[in-house]
Amino acid sequence: MKAVTPIKPSMVRGPAALDVQRVRRDFPILSRRPDGRPFAYLDNAATTQKPRPVIGAMNRFYRRENANIHRGVYALSVRATEAYEKARAKVQRFIGASRPEEVIFVRGATEAINLVASSYGRSKLRAGDEVVITTMEHHSNIVPWQMVCAQTGAYLRIAPIDDAGKLDMDALEALIGPRTKIVAVTHVSNVLGTVNPIRRIVEVAHRQGAAVVVDGAQAAPHLPIDVAALGCDFYALSGHKMYGPGGIGALYGRYDLLKKMPPYQGGGDMIRSVSFEGTLYADPPQRFEAGTPHVAGALGLAAAVDYLDRIGMVHAAAYEQELLAYGTSRLTGVPGVRIIGTAPEKVGVLSFVVENIHPHDLGTILDVHGVAIRAGHHCAQPLMERFGVPATARASLAFYNTREEIDALVDAIGKAIEVFG
Ligand code: PMP
Repeated sequence: MKAVTPIKPSMVRGPAALDVQRVRRDFPILSRRPDGRPFAYLDNAATTQKPRPVIGAMNRFYRRENANIHRGVYALSVRATEAYEKARAKVQRFIGASRPEEVIFVRGATEAINLVASSYGRSKLRAGDEVVITTMEHHSNIVPWQMVCAQTGAYLRIAPIDDAGKLDMDALEALIGPRTKIVAVTHVSNVLGTVNPIRRIVEVAHRQGAAVVVDGAQAAPHLPIDVAALGCDFYALSGHKMYGPGGIGALYGRYDLLKKMPPYQGGGDMIRSVSFEGTLYADPPQRFEAGTPHVAGALGLAAAVDYLDRIGMVHAAAYEQELLAYGTSRLTGVPGVRIIGTAPEKVGVLSFVVENIHPHDLGTILDVHGVAIRAGHHCAQPLMERFGVPATARASLAFYNTREEIDALVDAIGKAIEVFG
């Protein structure tokens, strides 16, 4: 059984029980030496690198196990079906869902949120209802709600954040009222690293009868997730952000809600029976998995989940907190650097701007020095507007990063300042 208390970064500070050099050997790409020099990959919020078991699981599937699932009567197809359903059960256990049917395989967090908006949102919302989101949302937790509001006549309400990038809980509570039907909030901001108090948000929303949709794309790579303890109604995951393959993700949905929701897409594999007079839909999760799924992706995601279980998310989080503290103090010491996102509860994401240097120029110079970061609006344009910047540079950490890589980042920023500053 998983612990029922969601672990926050502040609860996992302490000596790190993670051997980073050993962990790094699990990730073949990290030993890559372009131009014979070390390479610091600090763009983990965009996508994480893949450990051998994930690469191996997908390789093995295509070499030895490939068949389409659910409809085959021959042994290979039956085995592929079993493996796919076993992968679902692994994701279920990893996030603390109560049954495998609460896990729907999707392409990623974007599709997960679109599924909820199109199916739950469109059937639930009426003109004058409200959907509450926050200023720090990724576009994928803004645009689907704008679309469904336009279709239904509902209004989108935005909860503000403070200058540190912390959610204004008083303002959020004041916004959530009897007209609120959905509260959609990110667990962790991809720009600020802020960890939002999901359990409290769920309490407030449920008191008003609103459902809570959590964008967990940036939380699952950094924190242990327990949807039962969080109490949320929906939770969206992207495989590629949590050391798994691209093109696969998962939506957790409370079974009693899923059971009542209309399909998101129509097609094969989501039906019980079809005739020209009408169609009977399958139960969840099949109802929401029309078409041939990404079987290899699901197996790769299951391998990622097994890998993370072996590492231990608590150890990974503790190690990342140490690295974040080191990175924050090093960056703070560089004249002209301003960190954006200094909330007390945050994960290893360091967004910053450097005086007189556009983030894109900075990113290019850093690349020349073997440091990969992201520069831009990070699919969070309203958040950029909130901080009055067109873009930021962002170094985002994983448990395979090291202090030496942070030093390489800071040295390269120093070189960029020499050129532009
Ligand atoms: N939400 C957040 C907070 C993200 O950072 C991202 C990816 N940058 C997404 C959602 C969308 O994830 P995906 O592109 O994998 O669907």
